[in-house]
Amino acid sequence: MPSFKPEVMGKRKAIEIAFVGLKPGIHEFTFKVEDLFFAEAATRDFANCSATVNLQLDKKSSFMLLKFEVGGKADVACDRCGNQLTKDLWDEFNMLVKMVDNPEEMNQQEENPDVFYISKTESHLYLNDWIYEFVSLSVPVQKLCSEEELGGPKCNKEILEKLKEMEANDDANNANAIWKGLEKFKKK
Ligand SMILES: [Zn+2]
Repeated sequence: MPSFKPEVMGKRKAIEIAFVGLKPGIHEFTFKVEDLFFAEAATRDFANCSATVNLQLDKKSSFMLLKFEVGGKADVACDRCGNQLTKDLWDEFNMLVKMVDNPEEMNQQEENPDVFYISKTESHLYLNDWIYEFVSLSVPVQKLCSEEELGGPKCNKEILEKLKEMEANDDANNANAIWKGLEKFKKK
């Protein structure tokens, strides 16, 4: 059996695969990451994350193809009103891992972010950074309250009203600034 750690883990625990013991061909792994995994993130726009990452690893003699499928859910704030929403995570990511003699040099030169080099003498794949990145990228870009019938979004109406007022004030201030600028221009 390959040694990997599918249990729930925090950021500091290494998520790794001892690929050296795997036969050539396709192998599947499942990793579950909970919110603690992201606790050290400097900035993130989600909370209460519970993600499942399915990894399909195709081992060849000098490279490995990795396909990550992210699922699960996370809480995000509505872009429009700030309400907390629980959104599904879903996305797929592919990585090509090549075994070479000079991985550091090759990684510095490589411009394709989907290609990564490891030493021919390496025995383990360390997945923390990729899983971290891929789960983060699986949070929907558009985060809005759901549609209410055909009427419109279910955003927090009170907050929307407040936002509208603030925007109106902003517009008024901008208009003032423009007029002031024009007056200056006229006096010349
Ligand atoms: Zn909303």
